[in-house]
Amino acid sequence: MSDKFDLIVIGAGPGGYVAAIRAAQLGLKTACVEKWVDDKGAAVLGGTCLNVGCIPSKALLETTHKFHEAQHGFAAQGIMADNVHMDTKQMVARKDQIVKNLTGGIAGLFKANGVTVLQGTGKLLANKQVEVTAQDGSSSVHAAENVILASGSVPVEIPPAPLTEGLIVDNEGALKIDETPKRLGIIGAGVIGLEMGSIWARCGSEVTVFEAMDDFLALADVDVAKEAKKLLTKQGLDIKLGARCTGTEIIDGKEVKVKYTDASGEQEMVFDKLIVAVGRRPQTQGLLAEDSGVKLDERGFIFVDESCRTDAPGVYAIGDSVRGPMLAHKASEEGIMAVDIIAGHKAAMNYDCIPNIIYTFPELAWVGKTEQELKAEGVKIKVGKFPFAASGRAMAANATDGFVKIIADEETDRILGVHMVGGIASELIAQGVIAMEFCSSVEDLQLMVFAHPTVSEAVHEAALAADNHAIHIA
Ligand code: FAD
Repeated sequence: MSDKFDLIVIGAGPGGYVAAIRAAQLGLKTACVEKWVDDKGAAVLGGTCLNVGCIPSKALLETTHKFHEAQHGFAAQGIMADNVHMDTKQMVARKDQIVKNLTGGIAGLFKANGVTVLQGTGKLLANKQVEVTAQDGSSSVHAAENVILASGSVPVEIPPAPLTEGLIVDNEGALKIDETPKRLGIIGAGVIGLEMGSIWARCGSEVTVFEAMDDFLALADVDVAKEAKKLLTKQGLDIKLGARCTGTEIIDGKEVKVKYTDASGEQEMVFDKLIVAVGRRPQTQGLLAEDSGVKLDERGFIFVDESCRTDAPGVYAIGDSVRGPMLAHKASEEGIMAVDIIAGHKAAMNYDCIPNIIYTFPELAWVGKTEQELKAEGVKIKVGKFPFAASGRAMAANATDGFVKIIADEETDRILGVHMVGGIASELIAQGVIAMEFCSSVEDLQLMVFAHPTVSEAVHEAALAADNHAIHIA
């Protein structure tokens, strides 16, 4: 057995790598175990987020948004960009380079902070010992004062649509598509399905999205979901609600027939590619020895308390492998909280203020509770809404779709939710997060000075609108 570590982190995604760096900064002797390897046998750092999730999808979304704008938004601004066309292979190569730069950057940060990388598959044994089985099959056991499990998640597979190389793909395969499919099918109208659909619709694919549920984006505020459905449909996404995939068939090795049922009965459609984006499940297989002392909950997530402590003293679990939203920033903040507790600091996380974003165009973003949730709870609310169509800066930016909606408690004036559809809603939502973290009232936002002309003024106006005092709408 090697020297004892103060902390061993299993998994180098945004939960694990951030935890490892924080721990090293606080002076803990830290190791991070990662099973993902590159073709040279070196550990690939960054997890789902950097390699096959947040970052590559946003690289493709940014490029295709620019392409779409050049085709459909430039002429009105007097920019004549005739014959604009897309080199999808170059787009994908650029995305791969960004991933390489970022994952290499984490290796650099580990080195600079003195984090030891243990390449291999980690398994938690009893008494906070971690067995690491390397790519070549050799294994070693390491002891630690504390362990953080950050093993993340994997895509859910569904029996009617088994993955088939190059034809039926999950998020990993979807990010490798480098030629615009003429007909693209997507199962699942969640975050990943809508982002992937947007990417390829902008490149010219005919995109059909199958969603088993009758409601579109049931988790989002009603107004956000309604506006998003309208705008995405206008962009060419054929979103079929209440449409459940019952089977698939590969035709001549190059097309996929999707069989589904909807309100009209049995249906089928043929596609050049099919993306399965029905959600993700925790990755815990083989992670825990029987006597590790860590328990899973009924859905297979590692059971933790609000401080991310598992049932085994000194063992924490964070990120996608535990309850709560599967988001990179939630994973990272849980990592920081767990390390701070290990280092003897007081730390807590406010789960009520985690922003959610869908990077379609316009973007959808929210924090706090939705109107329907609050009404169901019987809370008396007031709502202020301001459309970007009334914002001078949004007009200048050619991004007038959408709105900012602020929901507050009618009696106390405290902000309970901020919901947006808009060009840079992913950036604007931070204002809602800050306001809610500081328990702001609507009046606090009303009294702040927002720079002119900015799209942020829509936040100010929405706050004013909550008391019927918006200036720029009647
Ligand atoms: P992961 O990132 O999954 O990392 C876990 C790591 O642990 C992996 O590297 C894995 O190889 C390793 N591992 C697992 N088991 C072991 C073991 N036994 N031994 C050693 N190593 C192990 N979130 C956002 O917030 N914003 C976005 O825009 C966004 N976009 C997304 C787009 C797509 C297409 C997808 C798929 C996801 C997206 N997400 C986004 C979700 C985000 O990627 C995850 O929430 C985040 O990566 C979770 O971080 P994590 O550290 O918990 O797990």
